[in-house]
Amino acid sequence: MPDRPTSESEGATEPAFLPYGKQEIADADIKAVVEALVSGWLTTGPRVAEFEQAFAAHCGAREGAAVNSGTAALHCAMRAIGVAEGDEVIVPAITFAASANAAVYEGAAPVFADVEADTLLIDPVSVAMKITPRTKAIVAVDYGGQPADYDALRDLAKDRGIAIIADACHAPGAIYKGRSTGTLADISCFSFHPVKHMTTCEGGMAVTDNAKMAAHMRRFRNHGIDSDHRSREAQGAHAYDMVELGYNYRLPDVQCALGLAQLARLTGWVAARRRVAGWYDAALAGLADVTPLKTHGDRTHAHHLYVVKLANHVDRDQAFARLRAEGIGANVHYAPVHLHSFYRRRGHGPGLAPVAEAVSKRILTLPMFPAMNQADVARVADALQRATA
Ligand SMILES: *Cc1c(COP(=O)(O)O)cnc(C)c1O
Repeated sequence: MPDRPTSESEGATEPAFLPYGKQEIADADIKAVVEALVSGWLTTGPRVAEFEQAFAAHCGAREGAAVNSGTAALHCAMRAIGVAEGDEVIVPAITFAASANAAVYEGAAPVFADVEADTLLIDPVSVAMKITPRTKAIVAVDYGGQPADYDALRDLAKDRGIAIIADACHAPGAIYKGRSTGTLADISCFSFHPVKHMTTCEGGMAVTDNAKMAAHMRRFRNHGIDSDHRSREAQGAHAYDMVELGYNYRLPDVQCALGLAQLARLTGWVAARRRVAGWYDAALAGLADVTPLKTHGDRTHAHHLYVVKLANHVDRDQAFARLRAEGIGANVHYAPVHLHSFYRRRGHGPGLAPVAEAVSKRILTLPMFPAMNQADVARVADALQRATA
């Protein structure tokens, strides 16, 4: 995991553990956090709107709602779109559970669509088969950092009154047909967990061009109350109204300060990840039993993850264990969501998404973070060759 200590703390003869992801905290981050700490505003202060505007602008979107996790951003999006009991929300079978859970929070039923075998992106052909009169939204997950096929999803959704929510937690900085993530859906959700492209420790944001939805999400993250502490202070007022049942999903100013400092380096980090991916592509080209996932020609990948598929005759779990034994923090993203006990108890199970169910047994996520160098990549490739032999 990213918080694990490396190099100095481990033996001189053992190479450092290479985690699958790792954040970078610089002096500029520490300075920004300290300034926020002594500024008088720990939460609901000026840095919240500043971070919202800066991050939304970075994505090319008009508005942002900063919240305390990517999951909270997805929940805000569900509420703003009006997802409610009786509705269905189509979600890819391969994603982090939160993509589906957010629909359940609002009383709706996730419907699991299958994924493309060579990209693990939500498959529009499967989505078309799963649309019903109850379908309220489609969650497009930009798996690994590659945008889903938004044009195909939009074609399915547009005449049926179906909204598109982007779970872009893997994909800040990715591009689809010349358009950046954050502009591809009705609402796009990002995560600032330490393993993602940039961090606020925990945190997230929902971005949109729709001012009404943005205002709704900012109210929803504040208990459903129509004003916040700072605006009441500014007006010298004490009264407020709780318009609907919301939550406390606020992102503190101290964390927004960290987010602003990190955002300044986001473009460079995405470029560094692309460089690492290029080294992997070259280093793995000679391994017959290892196939990196495909990138569509009309998309630019943001490489949150570098995922490979192993040949059928390779024991994936043994390869995983062998990599771990060599200090390589391989991982698996993900087991199909509908096979978790919670979703099985709700009537989902094997057979719903055959491609996802088969491919998820063959995948491995290799270490990927901006500070990796070419020697790290060569070490992973060598270890992977031994692990799959
Ligand atoms: C990380 C992630 C989330 C949730 O983000 P948190 O900030 O951890 O709540 C949701 N969806 C996907 C695809 C993610 O990778």
